[in-house]
Order: sequence, then structure tokens, then C-alpha cells
Amino acid sequence: MKGFVFGKNPKNAGYTVFLRELYFGMDLFSSLYPFVFCSLASGSNGNCYYIGNGEEGILIDAGISMRSIRKRLGEIGVTINRIKAVFITHDHSDHIKGVAALTQLLEIPVYASHECIESVRNNPDCRDIRTGALTAIGEAAEKHVIGLAVEGFHVSHDAPGSMGYHIRNSHNSITLATDLGYISEKVAFYLKKATVVVLESNYDEEMLHKSRYPRFLRERVSGARGHLGNRQAAEFLAEHFTPYMSHIFLCHLSKENNHPDLAMNTLREKFSNRGIDTGETILRTLPRGARTEPFYF
Ligand SMILES: [Zn+2]
Ligand SMILES: [Zn+2]
Repeated sequence: MKGFVFGKNPKNAGYTVFLRELYFGMDLFSSLYPFVFCSLASGSNGNCYYIGNGEEGILIDAGISMRSIRKRLGEIGVTINRIKAVFITHDHSDHIKGVAALTQLLEIPVYASHECIESVRNNPDCRDIRTGALTAIGEAAEKHVIGLAVEGFHVSHDAPGSMGYHIRNSHNSITLATDLGYISEKVAFYLKKATVVVLESNYDEEMLHKSRYPRFLRERVSGARGHLGNRQAAEFLAEHFTPYMSHIFLCHLSKENNHPDLAMNTLREKFSNRGIDTGETILRTLPRGARTEPFYF
């Protein structure tokens, strides 16, 4: 048995039970608290997702201003100093805009793949990032933060070292895969084992085809290193749906080439084609410039 410590957290006024070590490889701490997911923003104007344990939290991406992050977290009763780490998917500005300011305010680590960290270092949006904040994590190397195990996995996108994340406690897990041209076997592996799925559904194929976008841009979006379309996301989810998926969130919807109803209808149609009754599973599209309510599981 590895040592674990129950006691008062001296930094916290309230009584806090905390556990520093794992017991037989299982994280007991996490089972004492709920798992919380809240999308603070999703789409090409900014992406930021809060995942918490009821006490503390992490962010996946910080692609909106720190002011917005603080405000939207405050609306769900989370003060910004409860954020203990940020995990970055890739260095496009809609995913990193607020990172530098966050690291100036909070002494927290910012995790990303080795390649992503190199490009963040050269990214003018991140000029003011706190020295020493950036920490590389390898694919499939588990990072334990606030009682959650976080694993990164590579996705195909036109930014160096793009990653998705799989986050779990002892009961539930979230897989977040955004900004990816296609669902590789690796991505499928992490999506299939999640109880909560956050998957990109960026464009409606027909809308993109008819859009004002120049051809090179249409090809970039729909290419293997671009974004995932409604049909791709829906077909995958319909093929691999299991009743233990409690929530399915479609994320990073395009403003120009998609509509939440279209994305959701495509998903429902694919389920119905396969005769799948999703029962109590919550299906939602994530709004672009606004937060969702917090979801607990
Ligand atoms: Zn993006
Ligand atoms: Zn991107």
C-alpha cells in the first residue's frame, strides 16, 4: 500500500480531504467528488473547456480572453484560482489566446505535446507566457492532476503535435477530440472507452461545398489535416455508440458552414438509420460564444 494522507489542506479555509498518492493504482480521491464538465467556449472564435472534481479544475485549451474565462467560471461558482493546470490541444490562436495571461496570474503548468510546445514558444500570442510554465507530455503518458488522470493522444491537424485528451477518475472518463481531419484508430480507441464524448462536428458537407470559401480553404477544412464534418462525426458515433456513454457533445461547430440543428439532425439520423435508441444519453451541440451549464456525472 502506498501512503496516502487525509487531513486539512492548510491553504484552504474549509475542511478538505485530500489524497496524495494512489492506492493500488486506483484514485480514491476522485471517487469522493463529482466529475464536472462545462464548455466555456467552442468554435473558431475560441475554445475552452472546464473539467473539475467539485473542488478544483483543469482547462482544456484557453482560447478566449482571461477575462471571459474568469467571468464564465464565476457564473458557475468556480473562482479562477481553482484552476490547477491547462492542457493545450494545439497552438492555433482559437485554442491558446488566453494562455499567456493565465500563466501570469496563476502559477500553474501548461501541458502540451513536445512539438506543440516548440511552436507555442515561437507564437506571438504566447510571447508573455510565464517562463517555466510549459511542460511537455508524451502521447499516452498519464499525468495526474487534481485526482484525475489525463492522457494525450495525437490527432491529425495542420498544427504541430496536435493532441486530444482522455481524462478519467475511477468511475467516468471524458475523451475530447477537436480539430482533427479524420478519426484514426488511436482516436477511435479513446473515444470508444469514454463515458463522456466531446467530438468535433465542424461543418456540414453541403454547406461547405456551396460556401464562399475559396477552393483551397474548402479543401483545407475538409482535408485529412483539417476538421471533422457532421457526417464523419455522426457516422462514427452511430457505429460505436454504447449505452454507457452518458453524454455526447458535438464541438467546434463552424459559424459559416454549419448550424447546430444540422449537426444534431445528422447525428440523430445516423442513430435512427442503425435503429439505435440513445435512451437517457444527453446529446448536445456546444455553443460558440457562450458557456454551457455545468454537467455532473
Ligand atoms: Zn480550432
Ligand atoms: Zn486548429
